Amino acid sequence: MQSINPLNGEVIQNYTNHTFEEVSYKINAADTAFQHWKTTNFESRSNLLIKLAEVLRKRKQELAYLMANEMGKPLQQGTAEIEKCASCCQYYAKNGPDFLKDQLIQTEAQKTYVSFQPIGVVLAIMPWNFPFWQVFRFLCPALLAGNTAVLKHASNVPGCALAIEEIVREAGYPKDVFYTLLIDAKEVEKVIELPQISAVTLTGSTEAGKKVAAKAGGLIKKTVLELGGSDAYLILKDADLKQAAEICVTSRLINSGQSCIAAKRFIVVKEVADEFIRHFKSFMESKKVGDPLNEGINIGPLARLDLRDQLHQQVEKAISNGAKCILGGQIPALEGAFYPPTILTEISADNPAYYEEFFGPVAQIYVANDESEAIKIANSTSFGLGGAVFSNDLKRAESIAANDLQAGSCFVNAFVKSDPRLPFGGIKESGYGRELGLFGIHEFVNIKTVYIA
Ligand code: NAP
Repeated sequence: MQSINPLNGEVIQNYTNHTFEEVSYKINAADTAFQHWKTTNFESRSNLLIKLAEVLRKRKQELAYLMANEMGKPLQQGTAEIEKCASCCQYYAKNGPDFLKDQLIQTEAQKTYVSFQPIGVVLAIMPWNFPFWQVFRFLCPALLAGNTAVLKHASNVPGCALAIEEIVREAGYPKDVFYTLLIDAKEVEKVIELPQISAVTLTGSTEAGKKVAAKAGGLIKKTVLELGGSDAYLILKDADLKQAAEICVTSRLINSGQSCIAAKRFIVVKEVADEFIRHFKSFMESKKVGDPLNEGINIGPLARLDLRDQLHQQVEKAISNGAKCILGGQIPALEGAFYPPTILTEISADNPAYYEEFFGPVAQIYVANDESEAIKIANSTSFGLGGAVFSNDLKRAESIAANDLQAGSCFVNAFVKSDPRLPFGGIKESGYGRELGLFGIHEFVNIKTVYIA
């Protein structure tokens, strides 16, 4: 495994993969540790989460540099990501014990209740785009609930993967409660087969999700899947167009465009299309592309050269199928995996781009005849992660967000974001299960009914 800086292609470090023997040893140790860990009380587990937040905050700058070097995230966005991880630790330290309290249910029996019990070692398979946040939003509730965990992180961020193991140790967790496994994707099936693995969570592409779910399903092991998205944002005729365009561009360019819940499709009703597109283009043009270590940079290099090249091929294919490129669309004359803010319009339903996720700074703009056509376009993909509606008629916008858009999260006059307090996840091919909030902590527990006659 190698860490390669996408800014210049330099190899930062080589890592030796763990052998299957080492992997089995670590998973066994995590399973043995579970026997004791599950008996510890909430107070001590909450205190450890608070320590974890402290360590994250103490090492914030260093971890932001690590992300910038390994996957190109601009420094400021990296420090914000670590801060968000720390807030997730604090959130579950404070609220987790309440979420897991026994729930009494009145029946004819003397006593009936639901108790939430940990299930064992959970395997987490994670992507490189938010190398810390994706892991912590799973790990905080899992550890607080009394589970132990092992992490198979994306192969291009081994430095982040090992840093997470180190941070957990530094916070004072028992050694075997959490391990990072340095393994290839093709090793994952064998890991899922190990009897000590009780459940699997995967954040990544729909393709990987289908494979992991099939394997785990065959063994009746629970999965949570946080997969791809092609979020649609609807701009209605009474929206504040300039503000909507600014929010839409911010969302499209989060993490240099490499976010599952970045807005990817903008569907604007025809009466206001020209004005919206003008504002949108001007905000896209104003963003600075460059070295993620430099201040004021909005868009760093994409995480890997091959991912940049794939994105460019998607753009070229979209254009050859009739789309119009009104901004960007050319690989810049810069060393590194850079791609410019790009806008595609006039994408017809027979263009492959209409159905694909563009994982980079490429926006698709659609013009709809009316609101009902806008909703139809929004729902006409296999994805269902997030969506947003922009309008000054809040009642109408809320109704579309709540009732019409097929997605796990729908926001009004704001971009979709994850927040420790709110459940997060998708429908359709964007996955199933939820992370964060009350619902997230209930995914990897045995929701056990106790009935005393
Ligand atoms: P990816 O290729 O699916 O990789 C994600 C993780 O899955 C990596 O650890 C990868 O390991 C592993 N993996 C890939 N194929 C596998 C297989 N057949 N069996 C087991 N593990 C496998 O995704 P990515 O390109 O890193 O991330 C981009 C995708 O993730 C986008 O579609 C994005 O929308 C989605 N995503 C979703 C969310 C969400 O919350 N819904 C959040 C972030 C990203 P290797 O690196 O070793 O291949």
